[in-house]
Amino acid sequence: MRRGLLVGVLVVLMLVGTGCVPPPPTVVACEVEAFFTAPGRNRVIEARIVEALNLAHGSLLVAMYSFTDDQLGDAVVAAWTRGVKVWVILDTGQVNAIGGEYAKLVTAGIPVAVESVSGLMHNKFAVFDSTRVVTGSYNWSNAADTVNFENTVFIDCPEIAAAYSAEFWRISDSLGTGWQATVVTTSTSAQPAPVSCTYIGNKASKIFHTATCGSVKQMSDANKVCLASIADAVAQGYRPCGTCKPCGADGVCP
Ligand SMILES: [Zn+2]
Repeated sequence: MRRGLLVGVLVVLMLVGTGCVPPPPTVVACEVEAFFTAPGRNRVIEARIVEALNLAHGSLLVAMYSFTDDQLGDAVVAAWTRGVKVWVILDTGQVNAIGGEYAKLVTAGIPVAVESVSGLMHNKFAVFDSTRVVTGSYNWSNAADTVNFENTVFIDCPEIAAAYSAEFWRISDSLGTGWQATVVTTSTSAQPAPVSCTYIGNKASKIFHTATCGSVKQMSDANKVCLASIADAVAQGYRPCGTCKPCGADGVCP
């Protein structure tokens, strides 16, 4: 079974900004794996995609021209059933495609939109958990993995995933789905302090601020602690910031 394997590092130069002088590029490292299939080498890519679907735990965006592979359809439904947020965009031809997964997805309750406005919705990509993109010539179809010559790349890279997600939501909007262009973050890092916190403490410096203090914007999310009141802050050993003066000009907290 040939599995053309390329584990490499994709260096992405992202030029961000609108000025005449380009800002220094942001360099990010991404892991890429390439897979190939050909007549007689059955189900090579399908097995890898099923594996990826079974690992999905946050969100899944699928933009697919042809979706007739039962195993992949089942794995998408299983992901949805265990709580993964799933959205699917297919070409209109899939609604009545022989052996198509369209009805299975819709019956399961998965949001599915079909493109019938203009041209073919010829994409073959999926975004897993906002971090992994699976794309290539490979449709999620039976023929793709049994009778055709096809390729698929797995790209583990939040920056690339963001670009594909943006395109997914752009198509979604153009179809008037009304779907919200938001996905569940799968980050395990600390979340930003809720804006409803009256005071924000810095875990590292043990200084606390009003929620609107400029220092809060500089603070890493991991260091932010939500404090409901001055008494709460003092009880937890926090001192008042000298700039935003949460306890008043004299800097003495009750
Ligand atoms: Zn402050």
